[in-house]
Amino acid sequence: MGIEYEINDTKITKIASTFNVDKKTVETLYQDYLNFSPRIRHQYLAHIMRSLENYFRNKLKNNRFIVICEPYKHYTVGQKEASADYYQGNKFVIYYNNALPDIKKRDYIAHEVGHLFWLARLDAVNKNKRKQMYEGSTEPLSSIFGIFAMSEKNDFYDNYDHLKENHTNWQQILDFFDAIQKGTPF
Ligand SMILES: [Zn+2]
Repeated sequence: MGIEYEINDTKITKIASTFNVDKKTVETLYQDYLNFSPRIRHQYLAHIMRSLENYFRNKLKNNRFIVICEPYKHYTVGQKEASADYYQGNKFVIYYNNALPDIKKRDYIAHEVGHLFWLARLDAVNKNKRKQMYEGSTEPLSSIFGIFAMSEKNDFYDNYDHLKENHTNWQQILDFFDAIQKGTPF
């Protein structure tokens, strides 16, 4: 991975202060991400979703668990740019504003995929005492997942002709996810 997008101690410190999360927590989250990451390295976002689908199918022993990602049928200004519903044990549905530029669409979707990732992790941990979970319980972890995933993917895309989907530097990734978390336009 190129140095610009490499997650190191400095970046972990920045992530921790941006999202007001303990640095140790971000380090733990990154280890969790790395344990999953070999499966998603060099894959497109759509493939990451398929990987998560398989992860959930195994964890939940339900071969029909599905991840759906589609544009809002009717997007009205002021609505969230993207949202997701987790139907525990059955499906995860992501909706997004199709009018967004590709680069932002990918970040918003990565944030929502982050919810699924952490819900899957929590589900695995809490297997024996299943409780109702919702995406709100995984804020701002979902943004932190998005940063990890996009840092890795940006490095990859840098080598290919996907420039319009690419961030110009790592700080921009952090800024975009910070804006997503705060719900401010960017
Ligand atoms: Zn969220």
